[in-house]
Amino acid sequence: GESCPPELTEAQKASRIGKVVAIMSGKGGVGKSSVTGMLAVSLRRQGYKVGILDADITGPSIPKIFGVKDKANVVPAGVIPPTSSSGIKIMSLNLMLENEDDPVIWRGPIIAQILNQFWTDVVWGELDYLLLDLPPGTGDVPITIFQSLPVDGLVVVTSPQQLANMVVRKAIKMAKKYDPRFYGLIENMAYVECPHCQERMEIFGKPQGQAEAARSEIPYLGELPVDPALATLSDAGKIEEYQSPAFDEIGRRLAEELKK
Ligand code: ADP
Repeated sequence: GESCPPELTEAQKASRIGKVVAIMSGKGGVGKSSVTGMLAVSLRRQGYKVGILDADITGPSIPKIFGVKDKANVVPAGVIPPTSSSGIKIMSLNLMLENEDDPVIWRGPIIAQILNQFWTDVVWGELDYLLLDLPPGTGDVPITIFQSLPVDGLVVVTSPQQLANMVVRKAIKMAKKYDPRFYGLIENMAYVECPHCQERMEIFGKPQGQAEAARSEIPYLGELPVDPALATLSDAGKIEEYQSPAFDEIGRRLAEELKK
């Protein structure tokens, strides 16, 4: 009947997940996947057991930035996710495809089905936090994920340009319909630091993340500069080697919010 809880799969019985945290953005290109990756790295450095489910299946980049090339291992109990060098469990559609270049042209319902299968069939083991890299925007897929996966709360990633265009405000408004918790807002690419004199240049105008967070009643986690080192390490699959005091601070604040 409708009130019966669904029966657990073998994979679910073998998994204990503390909290599921979805990372959203208003549009593509703000660095949502990079920030998701770095949040996982930061939580891992703080000693938590972390996994990432790459739900941005129209442009999956999580395995690439972690340099994870192993295919997911399919065993009778389910799908075993590969692990990054610092011990982050990573699951992505790309890891299930024979050929990584296969186009992903499936629309909402099929994507939803695949994501549900990720949910029921992946053997995560014990995790404190599972980060969900959502597709950008407010389309079918992010909504389907809100509705079908047990998301505990959201982190919003934005940039000065998107704040100026109010793209992110629309996305936040959409998300609020589903009454989620918001763990925080992060403004990426907020400024550039001169490598010679360390002067801070606000090339996209004044950062507005803090004001937007206050307005939307979301905890403000902090801002990140445009940093070529992040892009270079990500391209090389070495995001776990990235060091950034700004990010350490954001990671600590997120951990505080997650404990509340
Ligand atoms: P999204 O997931 O929002 O589409 P990505 O995380 O894939 O965005 O980032 C888009 C590009 O911008 C990538 O090449 C990434 O390395 C780069 N990038 C993201 N954040 C930064 C940053 N703070 N500094 C420099 N490059 C960044």
